This record gives sequence, structure tokens and C-alpha cells, in this order.
Amino acid sequence: MQYAKIDGLRCTAQPKLKAICEHCNGIVQAKCGSKIVWHWAHVAAENCDNWYEPETQWHRDWKNNFGQDCSEISIVKDGIKHIADVLTKENLVIEFQNSNISSETIMERELFYDKMIWVINGVHFKENFTIWDKEFAENWQLKIEIIQNLKLSNSQPGARVLTVQGNQIRHEAIKKILNKHKFIYSRQRDVYTYDLNSMYNSHVLEARIQANILELYNSQKIDQKLKSIIYSWTRARKSWQDAKKPVFIDFNEGYLIWIKTNIGYNRGEGTKVSKKDFLAKYNITE
Ligand SMILES: [Zn+2]
Repeated sequence: MQYAKIDGLRCTAQPKLKAICEHCNGIVQAKCGSKIVWHWAHVAAENCDNWYEPETQWHRDWKNNFGQDCSEISIVKDGIKHIADVLTKENLVIEFQNSNISSETIMERELFYDKMIWVINGVHFKENFTIWDKEFAENWQLKIEIIQNLKLSNSQPGARVLTVQGNQIRHEAIKKILNKHKFIYSRQRDVYTYDLNSMYNSHVLEARIQANILELYNSQKIDQKLKSIIYSWTRARKSWQDAKKPVFIDFNEGYLIWIKTNIGYNRGEGTKVSKKDFLAKYNITE
């Protein structure tokens, strides 16, 4: 815990201090090591909230964004008490989840808090999580195929040919990129072709084209406040499949990913929300 009471005042842990837990009135002792986040720990072996998760700097930073008055708030329901990480002025509980948790725990907390959202620390699985702008994936990215032995160009029988279907190109500027890379357009078949005979490694060419398109896309500065994204999540944390409340993932960037579909699955859609907007929405001070 970040806060406990000394003489009735909320205090943060300082070396050698003891205080009273404001949730159970038990005695807590300051834990102030050089390698830990300074916190209060119950002198009695058990924490008064069995949902307690060891506090990390990540928790601490998030709670500090909301301030002392909204952090570590006791919520009692049917005689059972739990400590919400954050309770906003609009009575929304925000749970900051650093470690992996079971689907039972997720469901139990959603039932208890009811009006709540999750923010999970995505830093632990960042390498397994890929994000594309939906607009880019749907309207800019090209499907470049290698076709063999088709009479699409002047190439020899059996030769490999790179092809792009004209009808999948949504932006005129992409056609110019293909022309620049010496693709030949057949109006009759509505297809762009590139003869691979002399091309040692077609992946290099493909990568260059996709890079040019990405550059072009980025230069358009398509700037939506809430940007739709598509994600792939390798080794997705399956327990989140049972979450019904909104889930935001924090990758320690300037934005959060609000998962809109398929939380806990390998692929789905979401929305990129800047941290600034997230805080402005939930951190209502008055
Ligand atoms: Zn306590």
C-alpha cells in the first residue's frame, strides 16, 4: 500500500515508521529498501485484502496520476471489503493489473466492482503484440503475390512473376510507386506485373515497396484522435477472454490500446488512445 494513517493523517511509507491500515485498522510497517517501491506492509502475516498484488513502480505511477484522494479506496459490498487501486470522482474503479491473473479472479472482480475498467501492463508481452493502423492495413498495404508460369507478362514459361491486382489499390500514389519499381501494368487484366527473372531476391523488392507505401501513408498524417488498429497477439493471455469490462493495455508508450474485440485471442481490433486523453477522460478533478 502507498498510504496508511498516522495520527489520523494519510502518510506514505518512510524508513522505520509504523502506521495504521485505513482499511482494516491493523498495524502496518514501512518497507523502504533500495530495490523496492516504498510501501506499507501489514505486521500480521496476511494482507487485509486477498486481492492484493505486490506494488510496482508501474502501479505507483498510475495511482499518482489520479492523486491521493482517488487512490487505494475501500469499497464495501455485502459486508465484503476490497481496496480499489483507483476510484474516480465519477465512481469508476480502475484496476491496474501488472501480473497475469486467472479468469476466475477477473470475473470475481468485475462482479464486485461492477462499474470498472482494467489497465494491464503490456510491457511483459510487448514483443508478442503487433499493432497496425486499421486504415493502413485495409487500404494501403499491398498484397504482392508470386505467380509462376502464367502468361501475365512477356516472361518465359515457368518464370516467376510478381503481381499486384489493380482493383486492390485504393490510392493513385501507390500506382506511381509500382511504376517507379518498374512494374508493368496490363489494362486488359487490371494487373501490375514484375518479371523476376533477373531478380535474385524478391523479398528485398517487396520490402522496399511496402516501405515506400508506409512512408507515403505516414506523410499523409492521417490523424484521428482515436485511431482504429488491428492487433495480433502471439501467446495471448487467455484468461482475459472472460473479461466483460473495458480493457486497456499499457505498453509504456504515449498511448494505451483499448481492446475492442477478441480480448485474450490472437487477433482483434482496438483503438489507440493517447494517455493524455485517457487521463482527461477519467481523471475528472471536480
Ligand atoms: Zn489492512
